[in-house]
Amino acid sequence: MNLVLLGAPGAGKGTQAQKLVAEFGFAHISTGDLLRSAVAAQTPLGLQVKEIMAQGKLVSDDIVIKLVQERLACDDAKKGFILDGFPRTIDQAVALDELLSSLSITLDAALYVNVATEAIITRLSSRRTCKSCGYTAGADTTVCPSCASEMIQRPDDTPAAIQIRLDAYHKQTAPLVSFYEDACKLKEVDGDADPDVVYAEVKRQLSL
Ligand code: ADP
Ligand code: ZN
Repeated sequence: MNLVLLGAPGAGKGTQAQKLVAEFGFAHISTGDLLRSAVAAQTPLGLQVKEIMAQGKLVSDDIVIKLVQERLACDDAKKGFILDGFPRTIDQAVALDELLSSLSITLDAALYVNVATEAIITRLSSRRTCKSCGYTAGADTTVCPSCASEMIQRPDDTPAAIQIRLDAYHKQTAPLVSFYEDACKLKEVDGDADPDVVYAEVKRQLSL
């Protein structure tokens, strides 16, 4: 199954992706994780995007499209993939369509995790993220349950950056819901519930 996850920052896309990967073994392709690894490794790309990301702004389409193109070419993407955090603009969605058709890959669904904006600010400001693998949990988790590394607060999980990320989401990413609805690919789940309840609904929507 080849999937795109849609939803605001903090909607729980990463959490649902982690569950799908654990149960079905799909490749999890998170542009946020890829970019954060580049920042941590201080590669030329990482140095270029570090400040933009810390502010909560979007990295340029060219950069993320190239990242996804390289990642989709890896062998593990053949067993099915979940794109998380990409596409985030209409231009990225159009580029993805072109990329997939050039690789003769079909997108099965765009899964929209819909949450109320009020819930998001609280969730993000109390969120902790694994330094090494990107696993996310609440503020009481200090050691990553997946790889035992330190859990930290992301530089963009601060109130000012959260506001900028939400604005970017409403302006640039929310239109993708209609984009995928028009393409008859849209599936929607209510992301306000407990993660396991959301996950049951995710599987139902995807007939998994
Ligand atoms: P979240 O969905 O929690 O805001 P992500 O981990 O998906 O966070 O992304 C973190 C940051 O990485 C974004 O705020 C942005 O700076 C950058 N980023 C990730 N994916 C994209 C993308 N597809 N296009 C542009 N920038 C991106
Ligand atoms: Zn970890």
